[in-house]
Amino acid sequence: MVGILDRSRRKLMGAVVTGASVGLLFRGSRIKAAEKMTKQQAEYRDAPNGIYSCGMCTLFEKPKSCKVVEGEVSEDGWCKAFALAD
Ligand code: SF4
Repeated sequence: MVGILDRSRRKLMGAVVTGASVGLLFRGSRIKAAEKMTKQQAEYRDAPNGIYSCGMCTLFEKPKSCKVVEGEVSEDGWCKAFALAD
């Protein structure tokens, strides 16, 4: 009987440790996802793409930043991550 309880406890502790590890991994991947792209990765340019520009992108943050591209961006710029509001 004691042996069965011991095994169950060990299984439970294993599940707790595994769950904690998965939680840490998940947190780590969320931190990575929160990192911004470089301008080069986003193919950012300081000119609009036709009628589309950072100024009308939902990811633009006045006065000169972007939620997904690092560094300063121009209101008249554009990149491949451009997103219009629905
Ligand atoms: S077009 Fe690109 S750089 Fe400009 S605000 Fe949108 S996502 Fe950021």
